[in-house]
Amino acid sequence: MPALDIDLHSHSTISDGTMQPAALVAHAKARGVSVLALTDHDEVRGLEEAAASADGVGLRFIPGVEISVTWGGQTVHIVGLRIDPDNQGLLHGLEQVRSGRLPRAREMGRQLALAGFPDAYEGALRFVSNPGLISRTHFARHIISTGRCANMKQVFERYLVAGKPGYAEHSWAKLSEAVAWIHGAGGVAVVAHPGRYRLTELALGEMLSEFKQLGGEAIEVVTGSHAPEQFARFATLARHYGFRASRGSDFHGTGESRVDFGELPPLPGDLTPVWQGWF
Ligand code: AMP
Ligand code: MN
Ligand code: MN
Ligand code: MN
Repeated sequence: MPALDIDLHSHSTISDGTMQPAALVAHAKARGVSVLALTDHDEVRGLEEAAASADGVGLRFIPGVEISVTWGGQTVHIVGLRIDPDNQGLLHGLEQVRSGRLPRAREMGRQLALAGFPDAYEGALRFVSNPGLISRTHFARHIISTGRCANMKQVFERYLVAGKPGYAEHSWAKLSEAVAWIHGAGGVAVVAHPGRYRLTELALGEMLSEFKQLGGEAIEVVTGSHAPEQFARFATLARHYGFRASRGSDFHGTGESRVDFGELPPLPGDLTPVWQGWF
């Protein structure tokens, strides 16, 4: 456990988390987190409430966002940290990314209906708090509620990943756009959970090189979305490319997420943390 538990990746009900921003902040505080970033998917609407709540409980808050990107035919997530949530360029970009979610969800609903879930779209909508910000996670919660899958891992494997009946191909933002929006809003760009992508070693290297060329600053090394065996591999890549390193639980909710706040190990000591110089 580091002296300061710094957690720079989490989700609220504003995207696909289960806790409202203020409750999320209180939960992080109770679990020993000192510095927290809220990084909802494609949306910054929760940052004001989270910041106010963080002030109230004495937790340092970092405004963030996790932008959906399509690179090499795969979805890649880019986290922006220390962004200005009022920046117009960022807001317009995120609006454009979000606008693809409803049509994609309708297509997922259509496909899932053929796979034996007749009311999947309406069912998923019941789990959505922020209209328009509908994600695969909301479909997963609905499918679990039907009793036909036991947990998130099972729903995704059976229905929601490429090649499965509920997966709809989709084009998100370009990598260059996401980095430009984050930088335009004064933020730092971080490749989220690089170990999660279905990219060959060569393609991952190309993506990281392109991200570096675009001025991307950091990659996540210690994240709840990596298996612990992956931490060393991404530490090596951070050193190789000269990226700063980030750390965050990717918490979505108690009982649903692989790790809760306060459970991750510290970053390897020789890496430059993304937060160096911030406080
Ligand atoms: P979307 O942005 O609609 O494609 O949904 C992506 C979200 O689905 C991620 O942010 C995760 O919260 C969740 N997710 C993706 N893959 C998995 C998985 N294998 N197990 C559990 N959750 C997943
Ligand atoms: Mn998510
Ligand atoms: Mn992600
Ligand atoms: Mn995330």
